[in-house]
Amino acid sequence: MSKSDNAHLKAIEDLLCYSRLHLMLNEENASYLRNRLLDLLDLSEPIRGYTPDEETVSKMKSPSPILKTLTDFAVTAKKISAAAAVRLEYRLLDTVAPLPSKVSEAFDDTAARKGIKAACDFLYDYYVKSNSIKYDEVISNLGWTAEGSLGKLNIMINMARRQRLPKTSARYPLCPLCTENAGFTGETGYPPRTAFRYIPLFLDDKVWYFHYSPFKYFSGHFNVVSSVHEPMTNSPDSPKTMFDFLEIFPHYFIAYNAPLKGIGASNTEHDHYLGGECDMPIFSAGARLRLSGAEFPDLRVTVTDWYNTALRLESRRRQSVERAYAVILNEFLDYSAPKLRLRASSGKLRHNATALTARFNKDNEYTLEVFLRNNYADEEHPNGVFDSVPEYRTIKDESIGVIESLGCFILPAELGESAQGIKDFMLGKSALKDLSDPAHPMTQYLPMIAQLINDNGTNIDEDEAERAIEQYINKTCERLLAATDIFGSDNGVKELLKLLKKCGFEPGANA
Ligand SMILES: [Zn+2]
Repeated sequence: MSKSDNAHLKAIEDLLCYSRLHLMLNEENASYLRNRLLDLLDLSEPIRGYTPDEETVSKMKSPSPILKTLTDFAVTAKKISAAAAVRLEYRLLDTVAPLPSKVSEAFDDTAARKGIKAACDFLYDYYVKSNSIKYDEVISNLGWTAEGSLGKLNIMINMARRQRLPKTSARYPLCPLCTENAGFTGETGYPPRTAFRYIPLFLDDKVWYFHYSPFKYFSGHFNVVSSVHEPMTNSPDSPKTMFDFLEIFPHYFIAYNAPLKGIGASNTEHDHYLGGECDMPIFSAGARLRLSGAEFPDLRVTVTDWYNTALRLESRRRQSVERAYAVILNEFLDYSAPKLRLRASSGKLRHNATALTARFNKDNEYTLEVFLRNNYADEEHPNGVFDSVPEYRTIKDESIGVIESLGCFILPAELGESAQGIKDFMLGKSALKDLSDPAHPMTQYLPMIAQLINDNGTNIDEDEAERAIEQYINKTCERLLAATDIFGSDNGVKELLKLLKKCGFEPGANA
């Protein structure tokens, strides 16, 4: 056998070594798992006399190079079709990944011995090492901070995220958030989550599952998903679930998206929360107004100085925040303000919704930010009265949901891939008139490119073009968020105070 002939056999040994070093493989199981890998690759015997280089394998951030050797072999040797390579990759990896119970036991054990942060570090490392968070894609993400008029915005072009994920009609698992995705390697229409391992949590008398997001929009980006596939809804009890979560994970924030189409999560069919580390721009937003209520002597209510309407409720007692939220939600869901074109519902169809974030503030108080949102659309505003003009949607045509309300804009990979093309127009290397051809791959960027050329001309250098594109994106993100402010117009504050008065809050801080 020549050297290249047995690269795949060496890769099997490397994969077992990788699993031993990074995925909790017990040496006792190695011989058994070797046979299962041979079976998946339709091979009759392993290599002899080869020892993997432990030092090299221990430094690997991802098993991708080893898996690629194995799937390339399977395709070249015509054991599988090229189209089946991705599925084989997931099967190989899942074969050497620990069972779900082993991961959740290790998580609990680490939490008990070293604390919850160490347990989270362990689980996060598992997600990276099992390719559930694609390290190679995450490090290629391009991020920066924009200094907006009301505080900074974190902007990131996420190479793992495409503009509008393909809709799936899968019957099993029903959606990407279903926990049945662990171990499943069949066709679903979205990238498999085979090696996902979920940590069961009992929050507000219900079972939920914690897992890290494959997209990594920000540090510690996780989801907490319902054990059953049931739709999201605005419930007065959401803060109870969120504060129960924070009492286990005090170093994180947790958020709930508006449960309505166009202003919330891309998946409203499966109830879930999301969250991450507590460094979101909204958390530094100051106060536009302070209010208090006789019924809530130990609660501080703030209308934050932010791009859209975000109320902040803070108290040492979680019950005060929970009770105040229930009152605000109840009043807001039916609140219409014709002067603002704010329409609570059309018949049975609701347009008002809240999005939430919960965390401990720096004084360790229970803190809830409540975003007031509305998705009413009319003939003049088919995408919503509280949505931006379509040209700003070029850079992001998905919902402006709770993540953006936090001050965090995740822009799709397509924008990053098109950046050079956009620059070519600004440098005069491509002609604007070519974009009038609807078949031109850059046609969707016409409004953006036309505006950039209008503002900067085409007699600029590469650095100036890059800065101009970044500034355009920054300004556009600010506008996209500000457009969602339902109380943002001239009469807005007056109307908001009317609503808060109904809830029992008047301007003026608690003593
Ligand atoms: Zn689901």
